[in-house]
Amino acid sequence: MNKQYKQALIILSLLVSVPVIVFAVYEYSSITREEKLVAEVYETQLNSILFSINLYSEDIISSWQLKLSSKSAVSDKKILTEFINENPSIKFLYSYDTENNKTTILYNEKERNVEETEPSINSILKNNSSKIDKLFAYLKSGYRKAEPITDTLSSEITHILYASTDEKEKIIFGIGIDSKEFINKALKPRLQVIAQEKLVISIFNKRTGEKVYSNFPGEKGEARNDKMLWLLPGYEMAIKPLNTTIEDIANKRKQENLIITGVLALLLSAGAIFLLRNIRKEMKLSEIKSEFVSNVSHELRTPLALINMFAETLSMGRVKTEEKKQEYYEIIGRETERLSAIVNKILNFSQMESGKRKYKFEEVDMNELVEKIYDSYKFHLKNKGFEVEFEKEENLPSIQADHGAISEAVINLLDNGIKYSKDKKELSIRTGKDGKYLFVSVADKGIGISTEDKKKIFEKFFRVSSDNVHNTKGTGLGLSIVKEIAAAHDGVVEVESSPGKGSTFTLKFMIKETKQNV
Ligand code: ADP
Repeated sequence: MNKQYKQALIILSLLVSVPVIVFAVYEYSSITREEKLVAEVYETQLNSILFSINLYSEDIISSWQLKLSSKSAVSDKKILTEFINENPSIKFLYSYDTENNKTTILYNEKERNVEETEPSINSILKNNSSKIDKLFAYLKSGYRKAEPITDTLSSEITHILYASTDEKEKIIFGIGIDSKEFINKALKPRLQVIAQEKLVISIFNKRTGEKVYSNFPGEKGEARNDKMLWLLPGYEMAIKPLNTTIEDIANKRKQENLIITGVLALLLSAGAIFLLRNIRKEMKLSEIKSEFVSNVSHELRTPLALINMFAETLSMGRVKTEEKKQEYYEIIGRETERLSAIVNKILNFSQMESGKRKYKFEEVDMNELVEKIYDSYKFHLKNKGFEVEFEKEENLPSIQADHGAISEAVINLLDNGIKYSKDKKELSIRTGKDGKYLFVSVADKGIGISTEDKKKIFEKFFRVSSDNVHNTKGTGLGLSIVKEIAAAHDGVVEVESSPGKGSTFTLKFMIKETKQNV
């Protein structure tokens, strides 16, 4: 990994991770904020429900006080029974004469035995003397306050005490109610109206934790937060939205936000990866380009130096014999040809790249085309110490092709065969038919190509790293041009090669049925 790439990687990682972390932290804090907000909303709602229920309970108690305030109501059995029947949660009634310290049980439900009722009444009166005093103080100032106290023996029973003055007697009245029954009979209609099928309202016994009432008994997860009912201090109320819980709402939001954060991180990462790949591509391209410039310069330098040297020698008149002169002219001519071949290669490549290269398709006899190349290369190859053979299959069908382009492709393959041969200088050119294809192959016994490099040699500018395999100069364009030409003819170029043994490049063209070929 080069330094620039590393830097880009670090910067992009920061660009991705910083916003994701900031966003995640922000989201997390907003979740807790929202959770609090939701909880606050429910708290307010719970308070207002509680207020309404307390008011309702107070009304009930006031109406009871009113009923019981007349002497006849307490002394007349019939009226008392009627009152009790109307309010079945009342389990016993008693009065307590503070002056004479005398308790009178006015009513006790049949099933309840006196032994159970009396001790609890006595302990309530004994333990709450200061509250009782206050009740008289309230009464003096014109307010008949009721004081609810949980029974000492049974948490289900609540005593409601209130003061009353009868001539000179100071009397405390006590109403013993079954809290559960009171909730389920007297408060239930009110609770149902408030809940309106939207809320779950439940009431719990604080001491035992038992759920004594719920408008949706099956629901669970009410937020209990110590909201006592005024009339029933041993009981607390809890609410929650129907079919869900406050925690669920917060959790759902948490999950949603987590997913959003995750998706965002993924998107950002995908963007960063895409960008990194592009950066790497660009970097590689600029590397390849500078390598290409240096390769081309090397390619041009040798023929230019030779032309320069022989032209100078000739112009200085130092060459004596005509033979030598002729030899030098030939060298200059050959090197000029080499130069123009390189320049043409680059020009052809650039035309191909810009899509401007036009092909002129005509009837092409492949044997004839290859033979021409073979003839013109024969001597040059022999001079270089190559043994060349040309094996052609007779009566090959002709193909529609651009004569110049196919020649260029074959010459490129031949050039490579020459360039990448070392000690064993043997080349063989073959033409033939292979099923539906017509082929031209150029084989050498040169340095060969590794399996890994075989995949890349047709890429533009690619050259096998020269240090460890060869030190031949080149542009890295030859095979990419061959590939393009083959593709333009609906053909392919294939390679078989093993390092140290040689390579065979084969151009294959589909034989199309023409009148001539049938
Ligand atoms: P160039 O020859 O200018 O480098 P090419 O595109 O013609 O570019 O070839 C790409 C690479 O493929 C060469 O650099 C060389 O390493 C490898 N190559 C091509 N032909 C042969 C061959 N006949 N034998 C061994 N290696 C070859």
